[in-house]
Amino acid sequence: MSDSALDQPTYYGVTANRHVKTSAVSSLPERVDVCVVGAGFTGLSAALELSSQGRKVAVFDSGPIGWGATGRNGGQVCTGYSPGMEAFEKQLGVQDARICFDVAEQGKRLIEARIQNHDIDCDLTWGFLHAAARPSHMAGLAEHMEELEQYGVQGCTILSRDELSKKLDSKVFHGALREQDSGHIHSLNYALGLADAVIGQGGLIFENTAVESVQGGSKPALKLASGRTIACSQVIVACNAYLGSLVPGLNHRVMPVASYVVATETLGEERARSLIRDNEAVCDSNYVVDYFRTTADHRLLFGGRCSYSGIHPRDLGANMRPRVLRIFPQLSDVKMEYAWGGHIGITYNRLPNMGRSDSSIYFVHGFSGQGVVLAGVLGKVLADAIVGDTERFDVFARIRHLPFPGGFLRRPGLTLGMLYYRVKDLLS
Ligand SMILES: Cc1cc2nc3c(=O)[nH]c(=O)nc-3n(C[C@H](O)[C@H](O)[C@H](O)COP(=O)(O)OP(=O)(O)OC[C@H]3O[C@@H](n4cnc5c(N)ncnc54)[C@H](O)[C@@H]3O)c2cc1C
Repeated sequence: MSDSALDQPTYYGVTANRHVKTSAVSSLPERVDVCVVGAGFTGLSAALELSSQGRKVAVFDSGPIGWGATGRNGGQVCTGYSPGMEAFEKQLGVQDARICFDVAEQGKRLIEARIQNHDIDCDLTWGFLHAAARPSHMAGLAEHMEELEQYGVQGCTILSRDELSKKLDSKVFHGALREQDSGHIHSLNYALGLADAVIGQGGLIFENTAVESVQGGSKPALKLASGRTIACSQVIVACNAYLGSLVPGLNHRVMPVASYVVATETLGEERARSLIRDNEAVCDSNYVVDYFRTTADHRLLFGGRCSYSGIHPRDLGANMRPRVLRIFPQLSDVKMEYAWGGHIGITYNRLPNMGRSDSSIYFVHGFSGQGVVLAGVLGKVLADAIVGDTERFDVFARIRHLPFPGGFLRRPGLTLGMLYYRVKDLLS
């Protein structure tokens, strides 16, 4: 789903620190064990796990590695799931909800382990502030902290407005929940590191190689847009918001929502630290969130806004500027050097949608804005299921998902739904 309004140069692209030697389609094998569609966190993570277990994998992406949300996100490494744990508890019961939470926590440890094992230079930094956009949101943050602690998360503290003002030089917030064990990362450099590791373990990655159709059943295979085919034993569909109609029936479960990010010119270390003293990631407490952090080269990287309608602002940098200046008016002299967008994959209930669409096609998508951790670890859960450990896969696959309306009602329905939350943000 290329979209020129969103597909502008990104901070991540220009600061990418390695070139990965991928394969040419002319060397396409006739058969591998597992074909993976999508070279984002989900697909690369699954491929890395499978190749470490001796499976021959081939990963295909219609763009370069990380071309989707993986190479264009806010880089926030978050805890848990966007709707909180109640939705899991209602559907699965407390015990299985805990399994799902633990999987998300393991996702952070997986990132650390992979960075270490594969020597990936990607600026991982811990510390996260959930900043209260309204005084009334402090109660919600305290409840959120209680839930995190019930699920075993340590190192959370509530900061008063005064305490927060010493860490964050903005007057618009009313206090915060600080988490020690969330943070931020250079997403694309992490993804490129995973890709290199896949290739190092004998996996194949084909960039700029679109998959036209997926065949499941007893003779799984991919047909590439070039007309060539490759056979395999299983297929992993890791396309998230970019899925389109590749697998009939699946796209009703995940809806692409555009979100936008800007990165300022470099501010210098002193000025960057004057904004966010301890280099934490920050996210506000609204339903439609603004999120920001500084980068290793001392820019402010700021994300926010959503478009549910498929219509994008014409000049993204100018459009995002007032949002940045509302929080940091002291940056009025600063240029927005990069501005881009991408598609977040959301599900109706904001829980990830994992399963098999037939005996040999596995999928997971719909991380609903929190895929930096979840896509990686749930890609591993898919890989585990393929090699025979289905315990965690089976728990996630039990979650029921309502389809989004199809046809001409699809976008207006979602736009109306989100308008409700915008109004809620304004009134709360
Ligand atoms: C602007 C933005 C900001 C975000 N910020 C955050 C954040 O701060 N923290 C967080 O946790 N999450 C964030 N997210 C979400 C997070 O980035 C995603 O959940 C995660 O990257 C999803 O990874 P993925 O591998 O499943 O999908 P993607 O990275 O989107 O990869 C899917 C890939 O599939 C490929 N593809 C699709 N169809 C085909 C086909 N037919 N043939 C071949 N290839 C195909 C696409 O080219 C794409 O590269 C953000 C997302 C966006 C868009």
